[in-house]
Amino acid sequence: MATSKIITAKSLKFFEKYLNNASPTGYEWEGQKIWMEYLKPYVDDFITDTYGTAVAVINPKAKYKVVIEGHSDEISWYVNYITDNGLLYVIRNGGSDHQIAPSKWVNIHTKNGIVKGVFGWPAIHTRNRAKEEPPKLDNIFIDIGAKDKEEVEKMGVHVGCVITYPDEFQVLNENKYVCRALDNRAGGFMIAEVARLLHENKKELPFGLYITNSVQEEIGLRGAEMITQTIKPDVAIVTDVCHDTTTPMIDKKKEGETSIGAGPVISYAPAVQNKLRERIIETAEANKIPFQRLASSRYTGTDTDAFAYSNGGVASALISLPLRYMHTTVETVHKDDVENVIRLIYETLLTIKEGETFSYFD
Ligand SMILES: [Zn+2]
Repeated sequence: MATSKIITAKSLKFFEKYLNNASPTGYEWEGQKIWMEYLKPYVDDFITDTYGTAVAVINPKAKYKVVIEGHSDEISWYVNYITDNGLLYVIRNGGSDHQIAPSKWVNIHTKNGIVKGVFGWPAIHTRNRAKEEPPKLDNIFIDIGAKDKEEVEKMGVHVGCVITYPDEFQVLNENKYVCRALDNRAGGFMIAEVARLLHENKKELPFGLYITNSVQEEIGLRGAEMITQTIKPDVAIVTDVCHDTTTPMIDKKKEGETSIGAGPVISYAPAVQNKLRERIIETAEANKIPFQRLASSRYTGTDTDAFAYSNGGVASALISLPLRYMHTTVETVHKDDVENVIRLIYETLLTIKEGETFSYFD
C-alpha cells in the first residue's frame, strides 16, 4: 500500500466533477450530494445536518469515534448593490481576493440558474498612470450586459445572489492539479479516498469513523463548530490547504517554508494535541511518507480549532496539503502530495486503538 499509486481514473473523475461543481459558502448541498454519491459504496451510513454538513460513517454503533475532516465550501461573492445603469457591486462571502477580480468571468447564481457576468475594469488608456488605482472592494464591479437596474432585475439577479468563478479543473505538466476551490475540495476528496481504501483493502476499524465534510469553513469554521457537537468525537484529524511559500513575494521569515511536492504539512499549534501529532509523525516516518512542519501562533485558522475546543476538548491534529495561489482561480497542488496526505491519514487511522485517550498523564 505504501508505494502503490492511490488516485485511479475513477477517483480522478470524481475529483474533477466535485471540483467543477460550485459550492459557495452557505450553498454547499449540490457538492455534498456528489460527495455522498461517491462515498456510498464504502460506508455504512450518512449524517447530514440543518446547514448542510455531510458525514459518511463507518461502524456507526461504535462508542469511540474518530473524525477525519475537510470542508466543502468555497469562497464567493454576494451581490451587494446594483447601480441605476445596471452594474453590480459585491461584498465577500469568505476571503475572496479583490486583486484578481478584474477581467474575470463570473457565474451569478439565481433561482432560474446561472447568469453570466464579467468583472469589468477601466482600459489602460483611460487610467491616470501617474496615480494607478489597485483593484479594491469599492472599485471592482460586475457587468452582466444589462442596460439598467430594471433589466438586471428581469434577469433574476438581486442583492444577495452569490457569485462564483467558472474556472474548471486542469492538469499542469502532468502532476499539478489546477482549479479554483482546491481549497478545500481537495480535503473532501482525500478523506473520501481514505474511506475507499479502507473498504477496498478490507480494513476493519475498532472504532467509528466519521468522514466529515463541513460547510462554512471560509467564514469562520462554522460548520465544524456545529457538527462536532453532533458527533462528539474522541479524535479529529483535520485536513485543509496551506501555503506554498516558495513563489515570489512571500516572506519565509513570516510564513515559514513549505512547498508543493515536498509532502503533507504537519502543524504545531496550541489546538494540535501533541500526542496525536507525534503519532502522525511516527506514522509518516514508519511508512516513509515525506512531510513538512508548520508552526501557527494562537490559531491554525482551520477547522482543527473548532474540533479541538469543543466538547470539553477533542484530541485534534492538522495535516495540510501545500497549495500555491490560495483563493485565486488557479490554486495549484502536487498530485504526489494529494496521495501522500491520503496515505498519511489512512496509515495513522490504522494505528488508533479503541478507547485511546492520548492523555499526557498516562
Ligand atoms: Zn480558504
